[in-house]
Amino acid sequence: MPINVTPIAGLTDEINDIRIRTARIVNEKILPNEAVLWHARRADVTDAERDEAKKLRHEVREKVKAEGLWAPHLPPEYGGMGIDFMAHAYMNEILAYAIGAASLFGVVAPNSGNQTILVKYGTEEQKQKWLLPLVEGTMQSGFSMTEPENAGSDPRSIKTSAVREGDEWVINGHKWFTSNGLEADFFIVMCRASEAGEDGPGRMAQIIVPTSTPGVIIERGIGIWGGTSSDHCEVRYDNVRVPADNILGQVGDGHRAAQDRLGAGRIFHCMNSVGQMWRAFDLMVERLLTREVHGGLLKDKQFMQGFVADSYMDLQAARLMTIHAAEKVDQGDPGARTEISAIKVFVPAAYSRVVDRAIQVWGAAGVTSDLPLAAMYLGARTLRLADGPDEVHRILIAKNVLHHYEKGGSWDFAG
Ligand SMILES: Cc1cc2nc3c(=O)[nH]c(=O)nc-3n(C[C@H](O)[C@H](O)[C@H](O)COP(=O)(O)OP(=O)(O)OC[C@H]3O[C@@H](n4cnc5c(N)ncnc54)[C@H](O)[C@@H]3O)c2cc1C
Repeated sequence: MPINVTPIAGLTDEINDIRIRTARIVNEKILPNEAVLWHARRADVTDAERDEAKKLRHEVREKVKAEGLWAPHLPPEYGGMGIDFMAHAYMNEILAYAIGAASLFGVVAPNSGNQTILVKYGTEEQKQKWLLPLVEGTMQSGFSMTEPENAGSDPRSIKTSAVREGDEWVINGHKWFTSNGLEADFFIVMCRASEAGEDGPGRMAQIIVPTSTPGVIIERGIGIWGGTSSDHCEVRYDNVRVPADNILGQVGDGHRAAQDRLGAGRIFHCMNSVGQMWRAFDLMVERLLTREVHGGLLKDKQFMQGFVADSYMDLQAARLMTIHAAEKVDQGDPGARTEISAIKVFVPAAYSRVVDRAIQVWGAAGVTSDLPLAAMYLGARTLRLADGPDEVHRILIAKNVLHHYEKGGSWDFAG
């Protein structure tokens, strides 16, 4: 079923135009070819199929570039669309409808997050050396923050050290879940940086580390969800020496840079989830309208009607909460932090529920790789951990709300 996008009253002409042109490419070039485009994910893929998929992906990317829809997250001087935050959020919703569509529009984690950080904190030299090849697709990257021995939900607990020795940083530490680790040409590594001989834990810094540097040891691609391997890597940094110029911004900027990366990124992730919920909902209804069981169509069974009603409410609530949070970010409202945490908890959970019901409606077919539902189900569950687990965001929501009331405020904060 194609994504059905019509202009939304109240949105600017620019945003509606981007939504409709994005949907046209998704419907014409990506949805009908999903199976071919992502052949390479099958274990038994042939060389001919891999070549066909590569050719098709190239054609779609060229079409996207010709339409001026490449890299919505980047300014035009670095090859992007230069659109504002709201336009990007609405575009993400549509891109998420088709498997892998975002990557064919130049948005693929963790590269796009790294690109955003390089634009904001990189020197001109760093942009030429690392950002441009990343945008052109001639380089890959990873973001290396989480450590097995320390709580990822409290990033200030990281222990990986970067000690300044003359014109170099010497990095030692142990990370895991560095995504894209098998492909990456460089990592942005979150460290605690200090001068040689300086006491104390050091201050947070992000340092660019080419993966070919001696001492960068990719120990394994960690198997997740029952798989034996993945591109989420365990990495050891053993006396890794990189030029002092490889630091992004100043020593001490690391935590703020990580928050910059994650804050707005959470809106984009939630709009992605909304786009995928939309797809799951369409698939569920499509099946209900056509599948006969026990002498009637599924759509006429009350259990199934309950699934439709509950999923409709989940999807509407998730979408409206995300748009509300995006509007607050766009207005520079400091209350946006509470809304971002609220959607970070609510949307992945609602997404899980909708996909779960869609799987149930499809029966055995729901858990096959013929449909995108099984992958969505695992993705939705993972989202409750990544970018800050649910509990951390719940604590933040409660803290902000209670603080507001203690200062004499009331429900008005949510307006
Ligand atoms: C598929 C995937 C890809 C990832 N990609 C990357 C990547 O590219 N780069 C990277 O650096 N990291 C990445 N991560 C790591 C991710 O960001 C961390 O897993 C996440 O931040 C949680 O950290 P943790 O696993 O150490 O859990 P912990 O910090 O050990 O927390 C464990 C659990 O404790 C609970 N908890 C935490 N704090 C509190 C609290 N204050 N009160 C009550 N309960 C609490 C939560 O339920 C939480 O799930 C990825 C993770 C996954 C699953």
